[in-house]
This record gives sequence, C-alpha cells and structure tokens, in this order.
Amino acid sequence: MNKVTSQIPSIIAIDGPAASGKSTIGLRLAKTLGYLFFDTGVMYRAITWLALQRGIDIHDEAAVSALAEETQIDVAPASKPDGRACDVLVNGQDITWEVRSRSVDANVSIVAAYGGVRRALSQQQRRVGQRGNIVMVGRDIGTVVLPEADLKIYLDATAEERARRRYDEIIARGGKTDYDGILKRVIERDHIDSTRDMAPLKAAEDAVVLNSDQLNEDQVFERVLALVK
Ligand code: C5P
Repeated sequence: MNKVTSQIPSIIAIDGPAASGKSTIGLRLAKTLGYLFFDTGVMYRAITWLALQRGIDIHDEAAVSALAEETQIDVAPASKPDGRACDVLVNGQDITWEVRSRSVDANVSIVAAYGGVRRALSQQQRRVGQRGNIVMVGRDIGTVVLPEADLKIYLDATAEERARRRYDEIIARGGKTDYDGILKRVIERDHIDSTRDMAPLKAAEDAVVLNSDQLNEDQVFERVLALVK
C-alpha cells in the first residue's frame, strides 16, 4: 500500500504573471506525476491569433467574443520534438508557434479581458480540469476556474527578471529580440491582466506564493515538488 501516492493532490493550479515560469514548472511537474498538463494561456492566444488572422478589430468586444464562442480549440500532447509543450489546434490547424508571435503577445491581454471570451474559455477549461490528475496553469485557475483545486501555487518574480528569462529563452532558440521591448510588453500585460474587472490576476487566498527571483529552475521545481508531496 502506498500512502504517499494517495495523498498527492489531483488538481494542481499554478497561476502567476507573464513569463513567471508557470509553463516550464507546470510541464515538468505534470511529467513527473504522470498528469495532464494544460496551459490555459494558449486558448486566449489562439482566439487572439484567429481574430488578427481574420482582420477582426481586436477592440470589437462583441465580434471577438462571438469568435471565442464558435471556435474549436484543441490542446493535445506534443506531436513534434521541437520544444513545444503541447500542440495547439484551431479548427484542426496546428498554430502552436503562431500563438507565440509578437503580435499575439501585444494583443492577447486585451482579448482576455472580455467577459464573453472568458466565459466561453473558462467553461471549457473547467470541464477538462474537473477530470483531475492535472496541472493547470494560467492567471485565474485557483481563483475562478477551479477554486476547489487541491493545491494552488502562485509563481511570482519581478518584471525585470521575467523579461530577462524570456529574452534568454528567445536568444537560446536562435531568435532575435530586444530586452527593453520584452520588458515593456511584460509590464503592459501585467497591468491589463491585474486591473481587468473579470477574473483579474491575483493569488487565491489559499495559494502558496513562491517568488523565484533568487531561484533557478531546479530550485523552483524542488520547492513545488515539496509542496505536492
Ligand atoms: O500565460 P500566457 O502568457 O501564455 O497567457 C497569455 C495571456 O492570456 C495572459 O497575458 C492573460 O491575458 C491571458 N490569460 C488569462 N487567464 C488565464 C491564462 C491566460 O487571462 N487563465
């Protein structure tokens, strides 16, 4: 009989601001536990990408919300070993890397602030999350989507540190970027995400807040694992 296993939380929510390492830590945790990893940010990104693609005005709340209601977004296990955490499919089309573009980064928080978009997407997220054995990352998982989560972690770091990590990541992949631009967009996104009316970015009252400024990825992971066990 394995007592420890039965005590492992089934629904684990990891929330936090842009580039706080939620996805890296969440994916690692999910792999370690044999759980499903679900990065909810990709759903908001997919709707933003599709709206831009179709020439829909990002500031037209009704049109963007209608798009969120009618669009089929699928998140599936990674089908290619190209660094992706999972596949993102919209109406069957693989847009995994498209959703990481600079134009999506710049517009996604505007889209994610719309009530209609949030209602459509969080309903889908809740359905998946309730099945359990899942690590779900986002901004409002512990507060709104799955307030009943067994373990809630809020991963934080300063905007400068998060921008530096994002910069290093892009350079390591052979890309080109500038640190100041990244920092500016991170700060803008944080501001919109934390001041919106519906489901703003904040730690749930019963979340464990982990600041990773002075920690490397392995150290953050060890602390998260200790919380799980
Ligand atoms: O986590 P990521 O940076 O990919 O999320 C992109 C955007 O999607 C966030 O800036 C936020 O506006 C939105 N988001 C959200 N609620 C979630 C996940 C993401 O509002 N649960």
